[in-house]
Amino acid sequence: MGSRKLRYAVIGAGMSGLLAGIKLLERGERELVLFEKGHTVGGTWRENTYPGLACDTPAHSYTYSFAPNPDWSAYYAPGPEIQAYFEEMADRYGVRPYIRFQTPVKACTWNPRKMRWQIDTETGEREEADVVIAATGVLHHPHIPDIPGLADFRGRWWHSARWDHSVDLGDKRVGVIGSGSTGIQIVSALAGRVRHLVHFQRTPQWIMPCTNPPYTEEDKRLFRQDPSRIEYVRNGPEARARRERFLAAIADASSPQLAELQQIVERHLEESVRDPILREKLRPNYTVACKRLVFSWDYYEKIQQPGVTIEVAGIERVEGRGVRMRDGSFHPLDVLVLATGFHADAFVRPMRVIGRDATDLEELWAEHPTAYYAVTIPRMPNFFLLNGPTGPVGNFSLIEIAERQWNYLDQLMELLRSGKARAVEPTETALADYEARRTEAARRTVFATGCKSWYLDRNGVPQVWPWSYEHFLEVMARPRLADYRLLDG
Ligand code: NAP
Repeated sequence: MGSRKLRYAVIGAGMSGLLAGIKLLERGERELVLFEKGHTVGGTWRENTYPGLACDTPAHSYTYSFAPNPDWSAYYAPGPEIQAYFEEMADRYGVRPYIRFQTPVKACTWNPRKMRWQIDTETGEREEADVVIAATGVLHHPHIPDIPGLADFRGRWWHSARWDHSVDLGDKRVGVIGSGSTGIQIVSALAGRVRHLVHFQRTPQWIMPCTNPPYTEEDKRLFRQDPSRIEYVRNGPEARARRERFLAAIADASSPQLAELQQIVERHLEESVRDPILREKLRPNYTVACKRLVFSWDYYEKIQQPGVTIEVAGIERVEGRGVRMRDGSFHPLDVLVLATGFHADAFVRPMRVIGRDATDLEELWAEHPTAYYAVTIPRMPNFFLLNGPTGPVGNFSLIEIAERQWNYLDQLMELLRSGKARAVEPTETALADYEARRTEAARRTVFATGCKSWYLDRNGVPQVWPWSYEHFLEVMARPRLADYRLLDG
């Protein structure tokens, strides 16, 4: 079999989909289409526009390795700057003309005769491709909790990822439900800027202190002049030590590194919150980093201003004019923000994926979503995932993760391009073995120490990468071909 030209379909034009587009164009591939449900690129950074939106991964790490940005305004970049970066990437690398916006994919169906995927969109288009790259993101289907009475609320309410900018909050009494990274960022931003703010916390969070120094014009000039300074922020000894410490802490709940993290957050709470009653309200009853660790440089300070109430009594119901608590107390509100998270187990769904032998991905994922090393799925030939299930998520740069995964997947695609195979998929045994080892390791992680979080599948098993980052880099360096089935049609 000689070499062949492939046609690629990328689903999603967020950070990972753009990466796929850039890398394919860089290789000279032109038979390429990106399907994007939204009106522009950026994924999560397009959808989230809430006040205080920022990325708590250092900006220089949350940047494509091949497109450093000396102009980040601060150590942690605000959301709009990140969105602008992705918009620029789409233009700089010429990906935009290949994107079909407002074109959600309805189904991908493997055609065994042609050994190609048929892609059907919600807009009625039908395309074929040899390879599908699912870059659909992790957290983008808003979770609207079933809080009694929400429909009766006479004020305005919205989910954090659907911010209503038409409402001026300055003179409003605002309630924010949820204390994940989103709720903490929103509350920090609104405190002192609205008439009254109530933060409803069903479960308090440990807050990791950090600082967010702005980059001066001089800093930016130096970054531009000497890119090794950027590399230092990304991968210098301090960054590496921090990453390794954090990974050691989460991978082993009995590690000294986790104990050290625990001390840091406890001290932060003790030293930052003066009122002992408030301090106890804010004290979590689980281990640090069991839930995705929240970083903040100002949350404790902001909530101790006048005009902010922390409420932990538990919501009984929403009423027409506010929120009733289980202890009978009532918070009158004009606006309610649900920072209540996302359906984290959706991944490529609700898109329907029908692979070889008419295998339905929905059935494969009936128990929980999974993929061999987070990137490939048995019976789904030439169907590749970026930031798919069981990968490293949480407090890492998902950009770096997607780049490593791309490097791995590109080697599988090379088998197709060079004519060594028409299609490639992992064996069932390889996935089963991976899952057995992964779930075993997952039980030792901090995520399994007894808190509730979106990291857990419905059986309470963490559905994320449980090993070290080094192991991830090692595995992503080269596919183990013995674990793959090569189909040659
Ligand atoms: P989340 O971490 O899932 O938090 C959802 C919050 O809503 C939790 O506090 C949860 O309480 C609460 N909640 C859910 N249902 C509720 C109900 N019925 N009644 C009361 N409270 C309810 O969601 P998120 O804050 O949007 O964050 C999701 C992820 O997005 C993060 O973990 C992170 O990976 C990413 N993110 C990253 C950044 C960043 O800076 N890089 C910023 C924002 C978000 P319980 O804890 O009790 O369930």
